[in-house]
Amino acid sequence: MYGPLNVPRASHAMFNRLDGLKVCNSFASLPENFYTRLSPHAPGAPHLLHANAQVAALLGLSEAALRTPEFLAVCAGQQPLPGGQTLASVYSGHQFGVWAGQLGDGRAHLLGEVITPQGNWEVQLKGSGRTPYSRMGDGKAVLRSSVREYLVSEAMAGLGIPTTRALALVVSDDPVYRETVETAAVVTRVAPSFVRFGHFEHWARSHDEQKALFDYVVDRFYPECRDPEGGEPASDDAVLLRFLRAVVKRTARLMAQWQLAGFCHGVMNTDNMSILGLTIDYGPYGFMDAFKANHVCNHSDTNGRYAWNAQPAVAHWNLYRLASSLMVLGADGATLGAQIEPYEADFLAAYHAQAADKLGVGAWREGDENLLNDWWGLLHTQAADFTLSFRRLARIEQAPEAFLQLFADQQAARHWLTRYQARLQQDARPADEREQKMDRANPLYVLRNHLAQQAIDAATRGDASEIEQLLTILRDPYTERPGYEAYAALPPDWSQELSVSCSS
Ligand code: AMP
Ligand code: MG
Repeated sequence: MYGPLNVPRASHAMFNRLDGLKVCNSFASLPENFYTRLSPHAPGAPHLLHANAQVAALLGLSEAALRTPEFLAVCAGQQPLPGGQTLASVYSGHQFGVWAGQLGDGRAHLLGEVITPQGNWEVQLKGSGRTPYSRMGDGKAVLRSSVREYLVSEAMAGLGIPTTRALALVVSDDPVYRETVETAAVVTRVAPSFVRFGHFEHWARSHDEQKALFDYVVDRFYPECRDPEGGEPASDDAVLLRFLRAVVKRTARLMAQWQLAGFCHGVMNTDNMSILGLTIDYGPYGFMDAFKANHVCNHSDTNGRYAWNAQPAVAHWNLYRLASSLMVLGADGATLGAQIEPYEADFLAAYHAQAADKLGVGAWREGDENLLNDWWGLLHTQAADFTLSFRRLARIEQAPEAFLQLFADQQAARHWLTRYQARLQQDARPADEREQKMDRANPLYVLRNHLAQQAIDAATRGDASEIEQLLTILRDPYTERPGYEAYAALPPDWSQELSVSCSS
């Protein structure tokens, strides 16, 4: 059932039972008003549709552990994680640019955190029932969006993009009412922390709580911000500014990675921004097929606020919301703002370095910006496939036709290629070396909407084999695999009719 690829070598003990794990819940040590202790609401007659042996190994769980009744009971929300403390945390945020007040956790339960020699992993259920923060929601998640979250978590990890991970997918026949009646599912997610910008925004007017949250996050995830300066302990102000600067850097890097994977998040509200720079809260996300610079993957985003080409600027705006919430700690707006100023330069540095790898140019040079912008222009006007255009660029000498056939106007593509090939001449690097490096920068397989849909359709019939197939290629999307040609093909026409929205 579980693919052999990429299983992290177990450098620590592997347990065959959940109760072998060392578990705590440090979030529960925060003041009481940060969360509500409660039990999840397990869906009726749950069963385990899929478990992820790779993520289990990170926690120290063997494949045998995944087959125990306790594993299902915990991932369904029927039993607590042994040693954990179950809670729903409270956070607020800006939705589509507007302050929305308290938002969550409306359907997530933090079970605790697994202590491993490589660090701690929080374990959280999503779709596990109502909480005091559910507002009008039912606390549930549907199978469709749960399969999508399960798959994309691993796809992002396979691409090397920071993300929350997915441990298990539990399904039930319980009805869930959305535009139509759908079935319920629960995803077990794993991450070092699920703290969002929105957690800080929630405490924007409460000094003591904000300080507690700040200390918690810095101590655990940004301890270097406390390093002494010139033999003197870092002042509180200095720690605060360094922390914000570090979050800016991580966020900028994440945005560069999203852009160059053709990934659109879909709902970049501040509550969906991880304080660790992880991709979090997958809903109506999408990897682009045909490139469109202003592509909007979320059907509900009628103004295109979260279009592909808007994402870096939206993250920048979100960082200002985070900074505003930190003012309560005593720093002034201008000083905090100065930490965010380098965001654009941070973004461009990461973006150019990765773009250089994808285009196969040795190092980013003056003039490359024009070449890249014209590349985007070419892809946009031709609606060329994002993933295959990059992938086939590496073999432009041996197989020009495979590349050119992606473009309706081949003359325009040839014109760009002439400049591109002239640029390649400037690097004294053997072609085969360049090709190999490009193949490690340009995935052959991505989680296209239609591929996710095929897995959803099969999962609806209780069949997890498509999930398994997809995980096999998505965990290492750079390596071509015989037998998986269909997964590397252009999308079928019906995929254009697929629509994803905020409803999940
Ligand atoms: P999202 O934009 O999907 O991240 O959702 C925004 C907030 O609404 C999150 O804090 C969720 O916890 C909450 N939420 C979304 N769907 C539901 C639901 N069906 N029931 C309760 N809360 C929900
Ligand atoms: Mg969310």
